[in-house]
Amino acid sequence: MSEYVKSLVAHVKAKNPSEMEFHQAVEEVVESLGVVLDRHPEYRSARILERIIEPERVIMFRVPWMDDQGEIHVNRGYRIEMNSAIGPYKGGLRFHPSVTLGILKFLAFEQVFKNSLTTLPMGGGKGGSDFDPKGKSDNEVMRFCQSFMSELFRHIGPDTDVPAGDIGVGGREIGFLFGQYKKLRNEFTGVLTGKGLNWGGSLIRPEATGYGAVYFASEMLATRKETLEGKICLVSGSGNVSQYTIEKINQFGGKVVTVSDSNGYIYDEEGIDAKKVAFVKDLKNVRRGRIKEYAEKYPKAVYTAVDPKSNYNPLWNHKAQCAFPSATQNEINGKDAQNLLKNGVYCVAEGANMPTNLDGVKIFLDAKILYGPGKAANAGGVATSGLEMSQNSMRLSWTREEVDNRLHQIMKNIHQTCAQTAERFGTPGNYVNGANIGGFLKVADAMMDQGLV
Ligand code: NDP
Repeated sequence: MSEYVKSLVAHVKAKNPSEMEFHQAVEEVVESLGVVLDRHPEYRSARILERIIEPERVIMFRVPWMDDQGEIHVNRGYRIEMNSAIGPYKGGLRFHPSVTLGILKFLAFEQVFKNSLTTLPMGGGKGGSDFDPKGKSDNEVMRFCQSFMSELFRHIGPDTDVPAGDIGVGGREIGFLFGQYKKLRNEFTGVLTGKGLNWGGSLIRPEATGYGAVYFASEMLATRKETLEGKICLVSGSGNVSQYTIEKINQFGGKVVTVSDSNGYIYDEEGIDAKKVAFVKDLKNVRRGRIKEYAEKYPKAVYTAVDPKSNYNPLWNHKAQCAFPSATQNEINGKDAQNLLKNGVYCVAEGANMPTNLDGVKIFLDAKILYGPGKAANAGGVATSGLEMSQNSMRLSWTREEVDNRLHQIMKNIHQTCAQTAERFGTPGNYVNGANIGGFLKVADAMMDQGLV
């Protein structure tokens, strides 16, 4: 690490104490950028990096709401408007009790580079709340979403900031948020993405992140003249990203043997076929149950509960060739990364954001496996959100095939950008450098063009 990069990381840590995930995300990116700054001293003198790590705006607000028993609760809402150099702020909303300012800042920071890689004109943002939708009634979720939007509406707009879903924010929540925005503003615009199909949503948006991660993995495998056909795959999570990752792996002839939620994981040696995926979708999206029920329905599958004392995740300790972490940040540590390699995994495509910690990333890079970091591999979600914005602006809807073809092409382009950029900057095969540098250059050049704002 150069002295400059070291001092920048130290500065971020000192200025944002206790925001560990933000430190981690910045460290990973700026390490990749050392070589760029050596070749382009103009970025350094314009203080582009110092500006990129400082959000343009952070909005933090009170979200009071009433439960079905008439009790009052107060949560905290956030929107991080990180960077608008190449387009309106764009990024999801996360509702989860673990949400903090630091987690949302890491997500917003990652989003800036990811959105740039999609080639679409979108800046980076992220938001959410420490509200936990689990165990709440539909009416409670609606009242929370309405209260959340009652503040957020004054900061967003189709040309300013366009939020979407993330953990805990799916079609139901986007509906309630959109309804409240429309009522307060008295306008029907493409202010949110992930909308319902009959009120402005795009076909393939629900599938996009998972499908995109699998398209990205296929592109990585193609560099070794391989496909997903016959590959055994480990997938974590059982939400939006996981469900459609499994669906697409099955379509490509792979076999998925794991799925999980925050309480535990399932190992199903026979494979999670289309019928079982339909069961998971119903369990998680309709009945909102726990993944444990999978083993009750399919008794040959084995359920293992999370052991909070364990220093590794047993899900990553099964024989396989590919892994698709699709739950949350830091779900693969150094020991997990070693276990994956030991069990034969040589292709990792991250559906989740920053699921691998810095130790794990180093282990994957040193082993020279096909490692697609989240900001490249999971960019299909936001790319399709960008396509939803285009359709809203044109007041048109594209067919499923048209959106899927565009998504597939975007994932191929992102892969190519990452591979070519890594090569151009002296680290062929390193998709981490490729994604960080590729994403950075476009934003940095836009910031240079737009002056000191
Ligand atoms: P969902 O809420 O639909 O699903 C999240 C899944 O991950 C659930 O199975 C959940 O389990 C599990 N999970 C969440 N938090 C934890 C935790 N702390 N420990 C263990 N498991 C956990 O979210 P998504 O599928 O939309 O998002 C998954 C990941 O993908 C996130 O990292 C998100 O940022 C990223 N992503 C999502 C995009 C999208 O379009 N949705 C786009 C790009 C990235 P449980 O049911 O118990 O909560």
